[in-house]
Amino acid sequence: MPENAPHLRVVTSETTKTHCPYCAFQCGMTITTHQADTRQLAIRADPDFPVNRGQMCIKGFTAASLLDHPARILSPKLRKADGRLAPVSWATALDFIAEKLLALSARYGPESLAAFGSGALTNEKAYLLGKFVRMVLRSPNIDYNGRYCMASAAAGQNRAFGIDRGLPFPVSDIAETKALLLWGSNCAETMPPIMQWVFEQRNRGGKLLVVDPRRTDTARAASLHLQLTPGTDLALANGLLHIAIEEKLIDHTYIAERTEGFEALRRSVLTSDPAHVERLTGIPIEQQVLAVRMLADAESSMALSGRGMEQQSKGTDTVLALINLMLALGQVGKPAGGYGCLTGQGNGQGGREHGQKADQLPGYRYIDDPKHRADIARVWDIDPAELPSKGKSAYELLDSMGPAGGIRALLVFGSNVAVASPNSSNIVRKLAELDLLVVCDAFENDTSKTAHVILPTSQWAEEEGTTTNLEGRVILRQRVHAAPQGVKSDIEVLGALAARLGRPKGFQFVSPREVFEELRRASAGGKADYSGITYEKLRERQGIFWPCPSEEHPGTPRLFAERFSHPSGRARFHAVPYRPSVEVPDAEYPLYFTTGRYKEHYNSGAQTRRVAALMDAKPEPRLQIHPNLAARMGVSEGQTVLVESRRGAVIFSVIVSSDIRPDTLFAPFHWGGKQAANILTIPALDPTSRMPEFKVCAVRARPANFPGDDEPEL
Ligand code: SF4
Repeated sequence: MPENAPHLRVVTSETTKTHCPYCAFQCGMTITTHQADTRQLAIRADPDFPVNRGQMCIKGFTAASLLDHPARILSPKLRKADGRLAPVSWATALDFIAEKLLALSARYGPESLAAFGSGALTNEKAYLLGKFVRMVLRSPNIDYNGRYCMASAAAGQNRAFGIDRGLPFPVSDIAETKALLLWGSNCAETMPPIMQWVFEQRNRGGKLLVVDPRRTDTARAASLHLQLTPGTDLALANGLLHIAIEEKLIDHTYIAERTEGFEALRRSVLTSDPAHVERLTGIPIEQQVLAVRMLADAESSMALSGRGMEQQSKGTDTVLALINLMLALGQVGKPAGGYGCLTGQGNGQGGREHGQKADQLPGYRYIDDPKHRADIARVWDIDPAELPSKGKSAYELLDSMGPAGGIRALLVFGSNVAVASPNSSNIVRKLAELDLLVVCDAFENDTSKTAHVILPTSQWAEEEGTTTNLEGRVILRQRVHAAPQGVKSDIEVLGALAARLGRPKGFQFVSPREVFEELRRASAGGKADYSGITYEKLRERQGIFWPCPSEEHPGTPRLFAERFSHPSGRARFHAVPYRPSVEVPDAEYPLYFTTGRYKEHYNSGAQTRRVAALMDAKPEPRLQIHPNLAARMGVSEGQTVLVESRRGAVIFSVIVSSDIRPDTLFAPFHWGGKQAANILTIPALDPTSRMPEFKVCAVRARPANFPGDDEPEL
């Protein structure tokens, strides 16, 4: 039973309502504990939770097997002089970390200390980690793996709307829209329960358009699939707007009343004529025109972006181009219309709202804004001058590890950066150059291979805490049972380290709820205002949408109906001319390479590769290759191919499929070591969001049947 059971209306003597630990859909689930053996758990999808309505994917259904998994770490481990990791007491491990941090800070300065957080952390943990790095380590260097996920959509929405919330409307609006455009999202694979809303939209007579270089399961459901050349999304989005303007399909009244900057945008897309766009993108003119008419002629239309368009070195501009189109069509803020981002990680949204991003403070405040610094310093009871400035973004932070870059110590919470980062061999090398690497996780992973200390932490069903799903709906994950002996929560770890580092005040919390009470105060008055949200309200309701500025406030399911969040109340158009990807195919590396996901695995696979049912279904990454290319290379299904980029090489077994373009190879990125797709990817960063270009790089490939190919250079 949860320890605070007397307050719960939704908990029976044996069944607890909670949420999935994985993606941003945050499916509601019930977990029933076997009374004779509290470790025997039965997971069911919650039919009452209005987001997943009784559906889940295989990852959610199998999540309980991680809780009592035999590979779980149950004691801190410290690397000894002989290079082996050995179990030690918590006091020994924490003393060691604190002494090293103090010594490194004294020798190299506080900015040599860094932390890397995660979109898997609850709001409470993300908040406390941000506070710990700024207040205790006194370092600017904290970022999180959400930078690899939704950062371009966040930057685009902030620039266009003055606020960033994944979906500015409930997911149920998807079923209502008459024309739905899914751009760079294979949500049928990445969050399958969302397809119930897509199918409902289609069953009501709505049109579905999909933009993706691959014919995915999502694309197969579409009325129109635009299978563009990788990395040309920005050209296509500008081209669709050009057609909408030429065909007089834009909403002049809406543009005049609700937006600013249209004239400069109009001039900038004059050159994006359909023939030029066809040459760049490979999308025939007729399909471009059809897409625009489907969106413009519908009573309502909605565009949702995914990582395909966002994970590019021009991801922010590409998101802005899509927003430009939807604003020009007069759809943003209208019922069942507008733009949204399909956030990826479980708490990717909340994780970027409460201070674990290099440039942000709680409440979606900015660390370089004097008023925002003063607001947070007041809550933390410090002088604003004590707050460090903006730190390095995720890849830049990791690339700075070691003597040359200056980051000497890294604390990692819930992230597997050795697999998730672009040019991952570089990151693996640099992790090994650290003077102190501490990994806090439930399992050892690829990142902890060179850790000096591993701290075992509790998992989602073992502690309560809030997350914020892709709709901006704040929900409460409830505790199902106690964590195993020997394991601590991240909140306890941060409190214990703060005490050892001489700053106990402000870190001695007895529960996540206490942290949330402080987070409420810290977020008050910010864009992401949680001050009116309480654990009691979350238990009574099916989540609360931020902003919620007072306890009487019902929350805000829909944004932009009357005004946008810029001071003028208007949305801003941005002229975003096309530019090619940083690396495109050439004579030496003649193919595109792009990455993505399997429905059986989540992110770096650190958890899902430990679940037998998921590994049985998808035991390895397979390289998707077009039949024509396979024939030219002389390979067939199941044979192996060596794929090389300028950064490294990987051998994959192939899956031959006409669902992919003949000029493109695809592989999932859920595996590490020699199977890591990110060995190949390029760390070219978006200038605004600092998002790496995971979706486009140039490679060459050949059958892997030459002597020495078994051991590619990593
Ligand atoms: S991984 Fe996502 S879609 Fe699958 S069950 Fe969990 S929250 Fe739902």
